Amino acid sequence: MDNLSGNGSAEERRSGGDFSRLLSKEDVKILSQIDNRKFIAALLQEIATIALTIVVSAYAAHPLVYVLAVFILGSRFQAMGILMHDAAHYRAHTHRSLNEVLGEIASFATPFSMQGYRVNHLTHHRELNTDKDPDWVRTDHADYKFPKTASEIFLLLGKYVSGARSFRELKGILTDKYLNDYPARLKLLRASLVLFLVTAAVTMGFWKGLLLYWLLPSLTALAFFSYVRGVAEHYGLEYEHDLNASRTVIAPAWELWLFAPHGTNYHLDHHLYPSVPFYRLKELHHRLMANPAYAGSAHITHGYITGLWRECRACRPMAPRNA
Ligand SMILES: [Zn+2]
Repeated sequence: MDNLSGNGSAEERRSGGDFSRLLSKEDVKILSQIDNRKFIAALLQEIATIALTIVVSAYAAHPLVYVLAVFILGSRFQAMGILMHDAAHYRAHTHRSLNEVLGEIASFATPFSMQGYRVNHLTHHRELNTDKDPDWVRTDHADYKFPKTASEIFLLLGKYVSGARSFRELKGILTDKYLNDYPARLKLLRASLVLFLVTAAVTMGFWKGLLLYWLLPSLTALAFFSYVRGVAEHYGLEYEHDLNASRTVIAPAWELWLFAPHGTNYHLDHHLYPSVPFYRLKELHHRLMANPAYAGSAHITHGYITGLWRECRACRPMAPRNA
């Protein structure tokens, strides 16, 4: 399993401490068990929430309800992307083909395919926060350098939520060699489905709905939530060892639902044990906290709009990129 989860070179990568045996092999094996029903239930729940949000907004026909709908849709598109992430780690279903199909279904709420995302993401796990980590390289610009002043952060969040950053992000995704490294037949299938949807929208007269409830939330709210989650996972940290090169955020339920659903707030725990599916990450975190080596060194932040905000404004120097 470990070769699939992509976290095999942690010991070579970091010299700040050996945290490779925080849990017993038996514990990891139990926590890594896949419950096929959980992923499907979560996927259906997200699809139902998206559908209900669109219906309520269309029925209400009120600008404020629509703005609320855009934020809910952006957060649920991100939630679908987080489910896709589990499929990229082969955690969606024990049947390999079904895992792939479910992952590609979830990926439709995001700008990339699950298979392309997997190539990118497993490299990210293997080469975390180095010049070989595609996520780290892609975010090597001012938006991800911390600390920042409050006004700089507000301005930046405004750029993401207004869609001003979306075309640059989209261009990066569409031209990325890792994210586009997947079979041509899957590319053709994805392009055909988009073309079919757009053609149907134009000929059947629901193109406006497609713009209002898919394109616009993707370019604004999804970009906003993705940026906040991305910063929370790996930026403004100490980068001394494996326990402070990623962040786990403990937050109230409403923040988790909006910013980091499906256990993605336990990102440090996920990097340590990527074989654990999303519905067991909370239990994984509690077991890790029982180990003094983890509890004493893990970077744990409390709250997105409280703790993360404070840390992004704190005067912590950025580590060298090749640390
Ligand atoms: Zn991962």
